[in-house]
Amino acid sequence: MHWLLPRMFMALAGLGLGTGVGYVTGAAIGTPRAGVVLGALGGLALAVMIDALRARRLLAWLRSTQVVDAPRNSGFWGELGYRVERALRSRERDLDHERERIAQFLSAIEASPNGVVLLDSHGQIEWCNSTAGADLGIDPERDLRQPLTNLVRAPALVAHLHAPDSIEPITFSLPGRPGTLSALIRPYGDGQKLLLTQDITQQLRVDEMRRDFVANVSHEIGTPLTVLAGFVETMRTIELTQAEQRRVLGLMAEQTDRMRTLVDDLLALAQLEGSPRPRTDQWVSVNALMQRVENDARALSANRHELLFEADASAAIAGNEPELLSALSNLVMNAIRHTPQQGRITLAWRRRSNGNGVFEVSDTGIGIAPEHLARLGERFYRVDSSRSRASGGTGLGLAIAKHAVQRHGGELEVTSVVDKGSVFRLVFPAARVR
Ligand code: ADP
Repeated sequence: MHWLLPRMFMALAGLGLGTGVGYVTGAAIGTPRAGVVLGALGGLALAVMIDALRARRLLAWLRSTQVVDAPRNSGFWGELGYRVERALRSRERDLDHERERIAQFLSAIEASPNGVVLLDSHGQIEWCNSTAGADLGIDPERDLRQPLTNLVRAPALVAHLHAPDSIEPITFSLPGRPGTLSALIRPYGDGQKLLLTQDITQQLRVDEMRRDFVANVSHEIGTPLTVLAGFVETMRTIELTQAEQRRVLGLMAEQTDRMRTLVDDLLALAQLEGSPRPRTDQWVSVNALMQRVENDARALSANRHELLFEADASAAIAGNEPELLSALSNLVMNAIRHTPQQGRITLAWRRRSNGNGVFEVSDTGIGIAPEHLARLGERFYRVDSSRSRASGGTGLGLAIAKHAVQRHGGELEVTSVVDKGSVFRLVFPAARVR
């Protein structure tokens, strides 16, 4: 009731004031009764006018888009203005809260590694994140409200969108975009659709590599096994002389050695993949590494080559000694195996002007044709398979060297000229060298 009292008070005050003024004025001109009536009406009219002015101010504020600073009237209009302002503020707060929630929700979808597209019931883009934009070649802002099928030229995706019960993901490629995408559609709401996309190029490549790897390992182990089985069968069915037996057992030992080397290399690779990154605070002496490699190299070369070792007594690399030794040893053994007699093999430690440290293994051997260089370091990639096998190679040596140096933050570099020789470099970042 407190909002009504000032209003009644103002009306009564207007009435009283008008009556008083009317009476005094009427008495002065000899018509006190008419003065009272006119004065009372005038006073009431004034009170109504003030009331109307206040209502008009409030109306003007309500028509504006402002939600704050309602006119500060007392009484009824003041109370009304205050209540409306409070209701508007509270609604605005709720809207802000909702907007923030939607923005957070969208930024979470934006951060998704998958592409997300929301399609309305007509197949038009309502929203999409930038991953979907990059996958499908659409602009998340410019292409809103456009039918997706007008923008993406992939018949498989269009058919998938129009299929009423498409649950299984499909794979497709887009003209002009390298790689393969997968797409999954889920209906929601009132005829809307959620389209999820994913670039599966890398995944397909990894699957293919894994299949190739298993096939290669089976082949590499299968071949000596077949030879061994043949010898076993021979020994079981044919009576061999002692000399023949010795020869066959020697050949069998060769095959088991080959399998042993292969298994050792496979284990070395598995260990490289499964263990944590080499530490940065364990220093391995370059000199010590070179000495150990030198001993093995001289044994393998058996004086057939000229071997030069240019060490640096003070240099050291931060990392894992067995891994560094295995990388270096694979390069030096390769150089010996692929360099004819009298050839020269040099192992040197160098520093580059940018601080990087480099193990450089150069030989004057058979060299490698340029088209093979990019693929060196892939598992089981060989330039000449029969030569590799004949010289006791597994096809994994460079893969081990490359993996080991990369785990130390470095790179394997190769330059080679056919019939002139090759240079293999293990390049270590300055941070791991002292
Ligand atoms: P492998 O055990 O067959 O030597 P690697 O992975 O060590 O396997 O080497 C891959 C291939 O790279 C080899 O088969 C060989 O053809 C080539 N290669 C490696 N090192 C040399 C080199 N120093 N000179 C010539 N060819 C090389």
